[in-house]
Amino acid sequence: MCDDRISPELRPLAPSIAVSDADHDLLAQRDQPESTHLYRTPFVRDCGRILHARAFRRLAGKTQVFTRNQMENDHSRSRLTHTLEVAQIARTIASALGLNAHLAEALALVHDIGHPPFGHAGERALDAALVPHGMRFDHNLHALRIVTSFEERHAGFRGLNLTLGVREGIIKHSRDYSAAEHPELSAYFLDQLPPVEAQLIDLADEIAYLTADLEDGMEAGILDLKIVRAELACFDRAYRSAEEKYPSAAERLLRNDALKTILNSLVTDLMSEVSRRVETNGIHTLSQVRSARGRLAAFSADRQEDRGTLRRFLYHYLYESTELEVEHKRGAEIICTLFAHWIADPEQLPADHAARAAKEGAARAVTDYIAGMTDSYIEQAWSRFQR
Ligand code: MG
Repeated sequence: MCDDRISPELRPLAPSIAVSDADHDLLAQRDQPESTHLYRTPFVRDCGRILHARAFRRLAGKTQVFTRNQMENDHSRSRLTHTLEVAQIARTIASALGLNAHLAEALALVHDIGHPPFGHAGERALDAALVPHGMRFDHNLHALRIVTSFEERHAGFRGLNLTLGVREGIIKHSRDYSAAEHPELSAYFLDQLPPVEAQLIDLADEIAYLTADLEDGMEAGILDLKIVRAELACFDRAYRSAEEKYPSAAERLLRNDALKTILNSLVTDLMSEVSRRVETNGIHTLSQVRSARGRLAAFSADRQEDRGTLRRFLYHYLYESTELEVEHKRGAEIICTLFAHWIADPEQLPADHAARAAKEGAARAVTDYIAGMTDSYIEQAWSRFQR
């Protein structure tokens, strides 16, 4: 896992595999036609629209792993800083492979925009609360609703009016939806795989959080360096090699060096594996990417195993640790209680959300209201509720 050499076969892919940046391309189309920009491509404009969206700014107040109550230092990732790290990784991979780096960047910037407060505990709680109403919570579909409807920044239309390519990537970056179950998504080529730029995002996300959560976990004192070294052979190898190179360096710096090696090697492996799959499947065009037998963005078999080990380690020692569980349970309880409260009496919602509840049903309106909240906003609602 910690082999940091760049594969000699690593070359940019054929330009015809990348999503085109041309204004007339199908994936650059918007629901509301707009004039061509003098010097910004459609996907560059989408990056700007996402960066300037209110939902993007709220990511600063949403839990990645540690809630605000658990942050004993100011350095743990929020969902915003995590997002920026994913964008940096996705942009690097896409440009090294000769793909459309601006599309990859836009998709990375938007990939977590649909997450509710309190991280994955909040997402699970909201999903469980919806089941009795015959619905589920899906952060990708919620993200699509944010960018197509909830954001109000333009006089001429609702939403951000993003390109078709970005909207397709929002729903397909981490999973595939069946056309039979989701007829409302029929515009997004559900019978086809997404472009490689979109396929990369889920893996860039994993590379970012697996390494960052190890760092934040150690920084918070929940993960013990000795246990990390004993359980993760790849980390231990990278740490030892950093120690040999810098024998007098502080433990924290050696730790960071090891994490950097792991991150780098995962990125390199992903790029090599994409190239390998493109070559062995004889892929030369975007339409061949779309009709390929499986996704082309993946880790090699060896790294896939290492990645599994790393994930299991983090679940066991960090995500499901007693230290984090207390806050997860508290977050879930806040979401469930407020959800039930507003469902029982939607008139207690702010006026615009109450109006939506009357029109679209309370379950939908309450979910959208809660999902949009930052951790501190829902904490304030919780305090008012308890009074
Ligand atoms: Mg993420």
